Amino acid sequence: MEQKAVPQLQIDMPVKFVKGIGEYRARLLWRLGIRTPLDLMEYFPKSYMTRRVNPSLFESTVGDMIAFTALISWVDLRPTKSGSKILNVGVSDTKITLVCTWFRFPPHYEQLFKPGQSVWLSGTLSEHDGQLQLLHPDFELIADQEEELDFWKTREILPVYGLTDKLSQKMLRNLIYKIFELFAAQISERLPQELLDRYQYPVRKVALQKMHFGTDLGEIEQVRQRFAYEELFFSQLMWARHRYYHIKAEDGIVFENKDRLKKLLWERLPFKLTSAQVKVIREIFSDMCSARQMSRMVQGDVGSGKTIVSLFAMLLAVDNGYQAALMAPTEILAEQHYQNISKLMEGLPVKVGLLKGGTYKGKAQIKKDIAESELDIVIGTHALLQDDTVFKKLGFVAVDEQHRFGVEQRAKLARKSSRPDLLYLSATPIPRSLSMTVYGDLELSIIDELPPNRKAIQTFVRQEGKIDTVYNEVRKELIAGRQVYIVCPLVEESEKISLLDAERLYKYISTKIYPEYSTALLHGKMSAKDKDRIMHSFKAGETRILVSTTVIEVGVDVPNATVMIVEHAERFGLAQLHQLRGRVGRGTSQSYCYLIQHFPISSVARERLSTMNKTTDGFVIAEKDLELRGPGEFFGTEQSGMPRFKFASIIKDQLLLRQARDDAFGIITRDPDLQAENNSFLRSEYIRLYNSREELILY
Ligand code: ADP
Ligand code: MG
Repeated sequence: MEQKAVPQLQIDMPVKFVKGIGEYRARLLWRLGIRTPLDLMEYFPKSYMTRRVNPSLFESTVGDMIAFTALISWVDLRPTKSGSKILNVGVSDTKITLVCTWFRFPPHYEQLFKPGQSVWLSGTLSEHDGQLQLLHPDFELIADQEEELDFWKTREILPVYGLTDKLSQKMLRNLIYKIFELFAAQISERLPQELLDRYQYPVRKVALQKMHFGTDLGEIEQVRQRFAYEELFFSQLMWARHRYYHIKAEDGIVFENKDRLKKLLWERLPFKLTSAQVKVIREIFSDMCSARQMSRMVQGDVGSGKTIVSLFAMLLAVDNGYQAALMAPTEILAEQHYQNISKLMEGLPVKVGLLKGGTYKGKAQIKKDIAESELDIVIGTHALLQDDTVFKKLGFVAVDEQHRFGVEQRAKLARKSSRPDLLYLSATPIPRSLSMTVYGDLELSIIDELPPNRKAIQTFVRQEGKIDTVYNEVRKELIAGRQVYIVCPLVEESEKISLLDAERLYKYISTKIYPEYSTALLHGKMSAKDKDRIMHSFKAGETRILVSTTVIEVGVDVPNATVMIVEHAERFGLAQLHQLRGRVGRGTSQSYCYLIQHFPISSVARERLSTMNKTTDGFVIAEKDLELRGPGEFFGTEQSGMPRFKFASIIKDQLLLRQARDDAFGIITRDPDLQAENNSFLRSEYIRLYNSREELILY
């Protein structure tokens, strides 16, 4: 397929055709997601190493991720009883000495390290017998200049890339250098000139070169910002288009603002709504009465009273002759909602039903009632979403604890034929900056106020050695008739061990510590039925102490439980700790949360615990969590719908995000389809980026 006008070397051709790469290396690069020369040039360093020894190590503590350059002072190779070998290498950075240890290593390591060499190391700092240690660190010998291009030999600062087996830093560095020689001229710009001028960003070609070959870390950071902006700008461009079309579509249900049922509920409420609740109900009603299909998220801390807010919305739908649904992530939560809402609806002309998953007696009848509109409000689990659950006239859906829902599921819900109005409830407060990127398709309402007369939960951080005094303090609560949660972590790498931990802890608690109270064990390996039975018995107060891995259902309400003990609290993320603490303090009595820390503890973990100690405000905690962990880990890995940014950090780049958002929305407001002459460049970039994904977003 030779074409005359096409140059031999193209920036988007498969890398295997580039001279010197070939089939084999191309396959290695493929594993890194690199297919073309452009991919290779966009394969940014994960860090930079400097050849100079930099004595900053003494500021680090055990558990920290560190990367530094040091001098090798000694090498020690010793056999073990089992016939293998342990390699220890002592290094120092003029202030501090530590030992690098390998229990498994390729044979050539034995000859690799020599006293006096300088070496770059990266790993997690640990401690063994009072000696600082790095176990199986990443490393690179600075003076090892074999197979290195002259260009790199003279550099003070070198890029460090993420690697795969059989690819070395040096190979990749050399490859990237050569690729730039061959293809740099073909790098094209992606941002409009107007925006480059506005922020004084270097053109893309120069910026790419600086990322790999920069000599000044400050300058490299500025260039990173250019790419972060580019990334954020295009994602905001997509949300701007979504918003534009969504508002224009006007294909939602127009509810009439009737207040018959609203009044009836209002009159029988056992409490006064908070002003935040009233404000949010207004926002929801205004959406529901417009022709636009509502897609709104209500964020409110645990216990802020989101359920009642969604009930008002459901009643508006029912008042208009529609059905409403409330979807919960678990059966126990669905049942809890069903009981509470049924009670509130007693005597009112509103029929409430419960639909659970699996097969059970009476299910067919419920489905029939849903199909024939015998039920006005249906509460259920994901079963509500199944294709064979057919509503006669569905007008409104509330999704409780929606954080497991990604963009795709939201799109599926929104496309239901009746175009129901949608309300998402979230107890995971998310900083505004993050909402704009993750939930760019949703309007946001915030309940930033807790009902009055709630006693703030008292939080204590205690060391493992003090656990007996904790048990003694907690006994007072048990004597007073209250209930207690004890949570221990489930570590992913070794589920078995921690499961054992939970079991062992359960035995210890039930036989040695509180033998006089009924204790139950709950963990993830149990059948749904067993979990349900145990949760019910705890809810009913028959079980007084619940020892559990983190499977305690989000949102479960046991007002009589006043104590939460979290074992190994240093292993939990902030959002998780906040959720766990939210299980108590749901009644009128004083509640307590004990965070038990075990050693070693990293400085980040220390900061998490001190944050928990200082504040109970979910939004403050969310901001801090984001700062400490970065958005990638914010929701855990399976969070779908979370954009993966290569360069942008939602915390560091909040200003960039705001700029990108304003710029993108400004452009789309003036020219929604990028048809204007001066946007044609942007249009082709946009299509190249989002061609296949856009359909998914523009629902
Ligand atoms: P969450 O926002 O965590 O889902 P819920 O909706 O479960 O919170 O409400 C927690 C508890 O607070 C419930 O028992 C509910 O009846 C009660 N509640 C809700 N709003 C108020 C209010 N304005 N005043 C007092 N109690 C309220
Ligand atoms: Mg709730």
